Amino acid sequence: MEKYRIGIDLGGTKIESVLLSSDRKEVYRKRVPTPAGNQYDLIIKAVYEQIRTMTEKIHGYSDFSIGIGIPGAVNKETGLVHNANTTCLIGKPFQSDLETLCGKKIAMENDANCFTLIESLEGAGKGYGMVFGIIMGTGCGGGICINGNIWSGANGIAGEWGHFSMDPGGRPCYCGNRGCIETKVSGSGIEASFFEKFGNRLKMKDIVEGFRQNDEPCKTIFNQFMNDFGRALGGLVSALDPDVVVIGGGLSNIDEIYATGVEQVRKYAFHKNIKTPILKNRLGDSSGVIGAALLNG
Ligand SMILES: [Zn+2]
Repeated sequence: MEKYRIGIDLGGTKIESVLLSSDRKEVYRKRVPTPAGNQYDLIIKAVYEQIRTMTEKIHGYSDFSIGIGIPGAVNKETGLVHNANTTCLIGKPFQSDLETLCGKKIAMENDANCFTLIESLEGAGKGYGMVFGIIMGTGCGGGICINGNIWSGANGIAGEWGHFSMDPGGRPCYCGNRGCIETKVSGSGIEASFFEKFGNRLKMKDIVEGFRQNDEPCKTIFNQFMNDFGRALGGLVSALDPDVVVIGGGLSNIDEIYATGVEQVRKYAFHKNIKTPILKNRLGDSSGVIGAALLNG
């Protein structure tokens, strides 16, 4: 009997959904913008709408699972969301609210964990024991898989390297600390750094382009980004010593990360000759949605 899998990846700027058949073929994929305004009721409605669209594709077929990746974690005891950079989810029973709407059990995991899972099973992390997956996009997340299984950690935040406070004088972070890695090594963080230093707003892609065109302000901010990336990931590799690091999210498409960025990581790691492969994802920068679809085993 055919069993379908619905995967949803709720991100800061987009909600991606996918429908997989029993043999894991992608039957349908859709991407819609995340409702603006950080409002819980709008977000839950938008996610439910995606689930409904997917179930309509299988015409009310009963045997299907739903897995959702969220930019945060669900507390296993209370069922409430915590550590979410889509802050309206914090303290909300997002999973059970959606289960009520759908009349069905739903699996829910941190989005970076979903990304790490799929890259570990079928992507750039395949064949490695401990995979550290990074999502550098609007925010900066991370997840750990050991031998193809998500390692959630005692508090459900394993791999969340984005919230090491690197700079006590840095910008406030939504988590309550200042100068978190996420405020420096993420699209939104780098754009904010540019604005703070030069007083005009430039998009991440324009900063990268400006760097490549030798534009001085863009070079300053981009080089700082490479340095911050190296210090942050160098420290993390020293602490965790994973077998491989796999990078996803929009920033993973910046080629300089795998050259200058990796040099910086090596420079700041405790062991100067670390050989840890630091790789671009193999399944696309938004492959986490497939990981979400596989959450139910
Ligand atoms: Zn933070």
